[in-house]
Amino acid sequence: MTTIKTTCARCGDIHLTPDDVALELRPGGREGDYRFNCPTCTEPQRRPANSRVVSVLLATGVAFEVVNPDPITESEIEAFVAALEAESDPFRLLAG
Ligand SMILES: [Zn+2]
Repeated sequence: MTTIKTTCARCGDIHLTPDDVALELRPGGREGDYRFNCPTCTEPQRRPANSRVVSVLLATGVAFEVVNPDPITESEIEAFVAALEAESDPFRLLAG
């Protein structure tokens, strides 16, 4: 299973699975925030997700919701995938 590397404010480097993460997209669907509970200390965390992080999270299959009624379109998702493919080491972006 895909592992998402990020950091916990308490624990430092941690690894999450897509099931651990919830993504909140802002209008336009290119940026937002992602939420998770640290697997070590169980502390709820929220981190900003720029467009590249959003691309990575969507590509790993995390659940997302759009916090604005504007729907995201298939062409936007295709743009996310294209951005992901252009990044040689996308998971490093999540390391913060
Ligand atoms: Zn932690």
